[in-house]
Amino acid sequence: MGTTKPRVEHFGFIMNKVERRLTTTTNFLSHAGRLELVNSVLSSLPTYDMCTVQLPISVIEYIDRARRHCLWRGSDSNAKMKPLVAWKKCSKPKRKGGPGIINLRCQNSALLLKHLDKFYNRKEIPWVKLVWHAHYSNGDIPHATMDKGSFWWKDILKLCDLFKGIINCKLGDGSTVIFWSDLWNDNVMQSKFPRLFSFAKNKKISVLQFLSNNNLQSQFHLPLSEQAYQEYQRMQDYIQSIQVQQNTKDSWHYIWESSSHTSSKFYNFPYRNVQPPAPFLWIWDSKCSNKLKVFSWLLIMDRLNIRNLLKRKKHKLEGNNYNCILCIQNVEKTAFHLFFSCPFSQACWQHLNMHWNFQSDFFQMMMQLKQQYQNSFFMEIFIIAACHIWKQRNNFIFDRGRPSFSSWKCSFLDEARFQALRMSEDKHFVFLLRIDSFS
Ligand SMILES: [Zn+2]
Repeated sequence: MGTTKPRVEHFGFIMNKVERRLTTTTNFLSHAGRLELVNSVLSSLPTYDMCTVQLPISVIEYIDRARRHCLWRGSDSNAKMKPLVAWKKCSKPKRKGGPGIINLRCQNSALLLKHLDKFYNRKEIPWVKLVWHAHYSNGDIPHATMDKGSFWWKDILKLCDLFKGIINCKLGDGSTVIFWSDLWNDNVMQSKFPRLFSFAKNKKISVLQFLSNNNLQSQFHLPLSEQAYQEYQRMQDYIQSIQVQQNTKDSWHYIWESSSHTSSKFYNFPYRNVQPPAPFLWIWDSKCSNKLKVFSWLLIMDRLNIRNLLKRKKHKLEGNNYNCILCIQNVEKTAFHLFFSCPFSQACWQHLNMHWNFQSDFFQMMMQLKQQYQNSFFMEIFIIAACHIWKQRNNFIFDRGRPSFSSWKCSFLDEARFQALRMSEDKHFVFLLRIDSFS
């Protein structure tokens, strides 16, 4: 790394690598294959560089474009297919209802935060000592004086706001903590005493400086308002209980109660309260192959290319015919009709002893049936059956034969026996017994 900030063209090698990986084979891969390619190859190419520097936005956008293109269109740069799912939804982790494509911007910050962790906790590392000595030996607080040092250090300091959002300081000598705005000893003074804060003379004063000044009044613009004065009295009581420990370093802990930094904890932190409907989790927990998992993810996202979706996207079909092709009913084909309420599909589900309750909403309906079904292979059977209803429909559209119950049953049984090979030995036999009861 040089002494000047790298420009976009210096990251050309990453962009070239990404481009080279988008080989012609992508065209022959299913969505699941491409998702795997995106997750395990394209997303990890910039990881090494992201551990050290902040990638320019345009480089990240370039890689995102390539990943998006790979996922939805393969390698053909002229392909015009629209993405089936918005990119933002694709970047949700698998446990949170998405397919787990890494958000590079968040990942970059998560990886760089480890430098701030080492720096503030004054780890025994040469660069940490050097930066403290070169820029902060006069007692300045790093995040109170942002524009110091090399381009690299300035970039890292820009992450201070993120860092402060996840960190709680246990007071040592208080020399590296801003009295008003940092979270220390479980409190942020600025929000604890908001009115008094507006009268503070130095809003970036350190805890050490604040407490070592015996004349507390001199820290404020006088006269104080009545409410501010009440807060002033409360604060006097509060700071009497505080003990700074001379010659001890301040130590910074994560609000998820761990003193060590892991990038994945930070990356997943914003999703902590996201609770997706349970069927999303069942998909990734099932023992089916990735191809089936991705298919069923698209199914419950209602993102399969069904005639109704084509109509929503204003895609013209021959003869303006958006009707279901599995049944003779003159109903417009929605995913729900095709997979659940269509007489063809109902016959399939009945064969598997699955009786859907159409009164409840979709996820409720799935959860109810899973409970009634009392079989640990509910999701596997559901995914395989749905996939082959979809295949019956595709066979007709691509002129490979008319849909029929017997052909669905045959392909369902074949697929199930094939998927059974992926299971551990004990599950394998139980699953096969179950499947054989449907033949
Ligand atoms: Zn139908």
